[in-house]
Amino acid sequence: MGITEYRNKRDFSRTPEPEGNQTEGGGNLYVVQKHDSSNLHYDLRLEVRDALKSWAIPLGPSLDPSEKRLAMATEDHPVEYAEFEGEIPQGEYGAGKVIVWDKGTYTNNSTNEGEKISMTQAYENGEITFELTGKKLKGEFALVKMKGRKNQWLLIKIKDKYADARKNPISSKPESVISGKKLKEVQANV
Ligand code: MN
Repeated sequence: MGITEYRNKRDFSRTPEPEGNQTEGGGNLYVVQKHDSSNLHYDLRLEVRDALKSWAIPLGPSLDPSEKRLAMATEDHPVEYAEFEGEIPQGEYGAGKVIVWDKGTYTNNSTNEGEKISMTQAYENGEITFELTGKKLKGEFALVKMKGRKNQWLLIKIKDKYADARKNPISSKPESVISGKKLKEVQANV
């Protein structure tokens, strides 16, 4: 927990990413960042306590409940990261362009044997149920850790009025919800 690993991986004299000096937290931010590093992927982040719990999703989220999308748990990111768009320079960790593909808030709906549980407990249990209120993604999703795997989870859309196998916002809505830019339109930070 915490952002020590995040900081250790980065040289803040070289990358435009935030150092994470903001101490307040406790909100319920949700963000998906589209990140064209060595492999294009989508970083799902949910604010838990004072950091963003993070998963890298190679294919991105799906609105089709029959699609289970691999989600690799990655290091916690600082809360300020939810605003980050730019280009991480060559040679730095995660080098490549980043846009904020979707952003909003979430509600924790996680339970264990019928009892409501905290996000921290749900993360430890390896089963998180949450409802998104984003611009592109809405409704309930589950993150389920694969048995016997260290960092591999699955992101699954739960059946509700927002589930729709015909819609694919990954391809139909590629632009940033902050700047309107597509990934290739992001300029290197000077
Ligand atoms: Mn990433």
